[in-house]
Amino acid sequence: MKQLSPIGPEGAIFHDLLIIPGHSEKPLLDGAIYIKGSDIIDVGTLAEVESRNPSSPKVSMKGYLACPGLVNAHTHASMSFFRDLGHDRVLPTTPGNSMIEDFFFPSEKELTADLIEPLAYSYLVDGLKSGVTFFGDAYFFARGTCQAIDRLGVRGAVAEHHADLGGPLPAGRELWKKTKAWIEDWDFPTITPVVYAHAADTVSREFMNELNDFAVQNQLPFHMHLSQTSGERDRVLTRERMSPVAFAKECGVLRPKTLLVHLLSADEQDIKLLADSGATAGLCPVSEILYEHAPLGRQFVEAGIPIALGTDCAASNDGSDILNEAKVFGLMLRMQGLDHSKSSPHFLLDTITKNGAEALGSPWVGAIKPNKKADIVFMKTGLGVEPQSDPMVNFFYTMGAKQVRHVMVDGQWVLVDGELAKVSEADLRDQFIQALKEIKSRTNLPMTVPTA
Ligand SMILES: [Zn+2]
Repeated sequence: MKQLSPIGPEGAIFHDLLIIPGHSEKPLLDGAIYIKGSDIIDVGTLAEVESRNPSSPKVSMKGYLACPGLVNAHTHASMSFFRDLGHDRVLPTTPGNSMIEDFFFPSEKELTADLIEPLAYSYLVDGLKSGVTFFGDAYFFARGTCQAIDRLGVRGAVAEHHADLGGPLPAGRELWKKTKAWIEDWDFPTITPVVYAHAADTVSREFMNELNDFAVQNQLPFHMHLSQTSGERDRVLTRERMSPVAFAKECGVLRPKTLLVHLLSADEQDIKLLADSGATAGLCPVSEILYEHAPLGRQFVEAGIPIALGTDCAASNDGSDILNEAKVFGLMLRMQGLDHSKSSPHFLLDTITKNGAEALGSPWVGAIKPNKKADIVFMKTGLGVEPQSDPMVNFFYTMGAKQVRHVMVDGQWVLVDGELAKVSEADLRDQFIQALKEIKSRTNLPMTVPTA
């Protein structure tokens, strides 16, 4: 495990930086950030920051760009055991089904709580090494995901999977009772608890209302897949005689602090309902292209619906590189004919920082600004990415995960020189391999388990 000097009690001013602050603010070409404890205290030129915080230790970061820790708003990190295996599963074996029902559910039936933490390591490590400091995760046995996030020293908004009508482990109210007790006694200080309904076709009206009421009463974010496939749309039309989005509206789910993911089978009427609601659309372009079709990006942007990007899971998007996802999304919006001014780099940055953080009830991250948490990614610039004539364009279309060198979360180093700083990667890998062996023995998935 590599180390950079920890920040002392007096804090430190990091300077000589190209800073991408977020919140549509212009890049600072020769900027400084004063960090103390877990917070960003001040941002500006070195002269400004030093004059306001005299005698603070200084650390030159010449040759580095600093951007806010990136937010991957929709993940199922423990699904890493499906990596590579989803690519040829697009066509359903049962009419009306998708890869979700035909491929994921039968294997997921074999999961147990002990496997979730080690299975999450691969996806989380890939995310952290590409600048993700915040994961909006939802999955079975979610305490295991929280433990994995905690072990790496990153941050998140995590939810237990709930469904009472379908899916591999439809536990319904019995599980919900336990989840409520867990939320009331929440023990992960850097992780926000979230209420999660799997999808409109796997959650009944009564249960959806109950989940949503609890989220509203406790001011918790609400996260769900909605209109994720044409099969879901058909099933909800049959059951409720309305679209999944209209059903979600009737249940009170369309409101600020809700993240509605995929929306692939939404129609014009649905988009109108979403536009007036304040809810955020969670889009995962790479995953969606792989298992159904490109998301309705242009329509959502033109309707003014806030968008937060996610990478979904390793079954349908093999990595957790959210900066790459934003690049793909930016290119996709151009292909869909969106006015270029509406898919600017500032707009794209919001989709992988501010929008996801706000939808997932964590507005204290997502920007390099005073009073935000010190979650910062330091990326190496230099010959391979020069000239940086427009730093925002350069950030999205030239730079990438390979430039991520150091990452700080809550004022502490979690990645140094590209290596994990809080935990041994070799240890994580050993535990991951053991968990892979176990799930392979239970499912016969055609995976290749790496050798230790
Ligand atoms: Zn998903």
